[in-house]
Amino acid sequence: MFNFILFGPPGSGKGTQSVKIAGKYNLAHISTGDIFRKNIREKTPLGMKVQGIIEKGELVPDELLVEILADAMDGFRDVDGFVFDGFPRTIQQAKDLNRLLDERNEEVSLVLALEVNDNEIIQRLLKRAQTEGRKDDTKDVIENRIKIYNDQTQPLIDFYKKEGKFTAVNGIGSIDEIFNSICNKIDREI
Ligand code: ADP
Repeated sequence: MFNFILFGPPGSGKGTQSVKIAGKYNLAHISTGDIFRKNIREKTPLGMKVQGIIEKGELVPDELLVEILADAMDGFRDVDGFVFDGFPRTIQQAKDLNRLLDERNEEVSLVLALEVNDNEIIQRLLKRAQTEGRKDDTKDVIENRIKIYNDQTQPLIDFYKKEGKFTAVNGIGSIDEIFNSICNKIDREI
């Protein structure tokens, strides 16, 4: 199996590229953000619990993520691996993911970061606010999300570098250009 983590700041294009990668390599796309938004829309107990946290741009507690991930992974059959989009976001989550994969005799195959600078990200997210109306795409919340990314998620780069699994591509360009750069990196690994 090929277990791929697409990594990058909010607004770096992880969602868009994950869908394309999942399609091309027959991988199950697991977006924790999408799972939370669906639960909020459907007003499930999980949705009620996380709504306030997400609207402030904070991180949902790690313990909740483990449960969600295990369920999501078990829900897929006949795939050649996973694309993790928006997960892991903390060192604890990265350790939990290693354990969840290990229990299935699997491991993380590759972690790829989309590199986009803060200015570009803020512009993209403000633009997305106008079309998609996500409650966490306001200027203050965007700044909070970027800060949390820098403080809590960025350290994962070193974690995966130590495991020899980290690579990066430039996340600025057309969707197809970026997709091609990602595929080139994946094709070297599989
Ligand atoms: P983006 O990458 O644009 O910030 P996501 O859709 O990945 O958006 O996530 C939206 C929000 O959902 C996050 O700001 C956070 O509150 C919550 N969330 C998603 N994934 C995680 C995670 N792995 N750990 C904690 N919170 C998460």
